[in-house]
Amino acid sequence: MDTCIFCKIIERQQPAKIVYEDDQVVAIEDIRPQAPVHLLVMPRKHVPSLKEVEVADEQMMGHLFTVIAQLARERQLEARGYRTVINNGPWAGQTVYHLHLHMLGGRVFHWPPG
Ligand code: AMP
Ligand code: ZN
Repeated sequence: MDTCIFCKIIERQQPAKIVYEDDQVVAIEDIRPQAPVHLLVMPRKHVPSLKEVEVADEQMMGHLFTVIAQLARERQLEARGYRTVINNGPWAGQTVYHLHLHMLGGRVFHWPPG
């Protein structure tokens, strides 16, 4: 996807702080962090949002969560907890249409979210 900012980051055509990557997944620091830890974990594959996920993506989707758990462990967030969020579509506030999971930690989060 030529116009997708996250595809450009994955392809190293756009700078970002990459904190983890493997053959399926890339994790970066959010450019506008909403918490002391705010990472975005995304598949290398360009999937616009959750509604485009297919059965063939199930292993990849599971792997995204395994990577988040690993990143949280590395940052000592397990004991106090952290939040994972996927915004889907305009009413949920999705602004980048390349599927990504927010991983937020280092402060208290309230429920329900705004
Ligand atoms: P969402 O609103 O759920 O689509 O989340 C998109 C997130 O991407 C926001 O938290 C933005 O701050 C973040 N973001 C946008 N552009 C960049 C970028 N170039 N590098 C890192 N994070 C970005
Ligand atoms: Zn993309």
